[in-house]
Amino acid sequence: PVYYRTEFLKSAPNPWDAPPDEGREVAFAGRSNAGKSSVINTITQRKNLARTSKTPGRTQLLNFFQVDETSRLVDLPGYGYAKVPMDMRKAWGKSMESYLLHRQALQGVFLIMDVRHPLTEFDWQMAEWCGSAGLDLHVVLTKADKLSRGAAANTLLQVRRSLKNEGVEASAQLFSSMDRNGLEEAHAMLDHWLRP
Ligand code: GDP
Repeated sequence: PVYYRTEFLKSAPNPWDAPPDEGREVAFAGRSNAGKSSVINTITQRKNLARTSKTPGRTQLLNFFQVDETSRLVDLPGYGYAKVPMDMRKAWGKSMESYLLHRQALQGVFLIMDVRHPLTEFDWQMAEWCGSAGLDLHVVLTKADKLSRGAAANTLLQVRRSLKNEGVEASAQLFSSMDRNGLEEAHAMLDHWLRP
């Protein structure tokens, strides 16, 4: 897959530091510790591609990865580790919302959740922003290896049902960065958005 040739492009502390708004992008969002970096690293087969976004104390907003000349993956670091002051969270939220609303290249969002703790407040907020921006949403329930097959399948059904009940239109899948289950499905979704 073309994703295995992905390279780090740049970090953008602010929306205006983003690369030119051309081509196609898919963004990855997720509450800190959900397993987002691992998903990005698994999808790209790069051990540490998404590590840059986790340097503690850095308020990076967006990290861009180049897939090929015209397509990019974007890591949207959450406000993560508990103790971020409220005004910083608000600023983060404003910038995030603005990026989701105005970025022309953005085709859709992969929303990463820990299969054991799906649909947190953060996740609903992201889903709401994507909805109002008219962006397609794909929910990735990762760490599926932590549950039995049956329990994971059950969670997938429940998550799909909850989203539907709240009027959120989204596709959803199970994933594991440990045994790489769900990798083909994730690649297919990226192909759908980036290489139509
Ligand atoms: P992030 O903060 O969302 O980027 O989360 P990370 O990718 O750093 O993962 C958080 C923790 O969960 C790390 O200790 C990972 O090793 C672990 N983890 C991530 N994905 C998986 C997975 O699919 N299976 C298992 N068993 N552990 C995972």
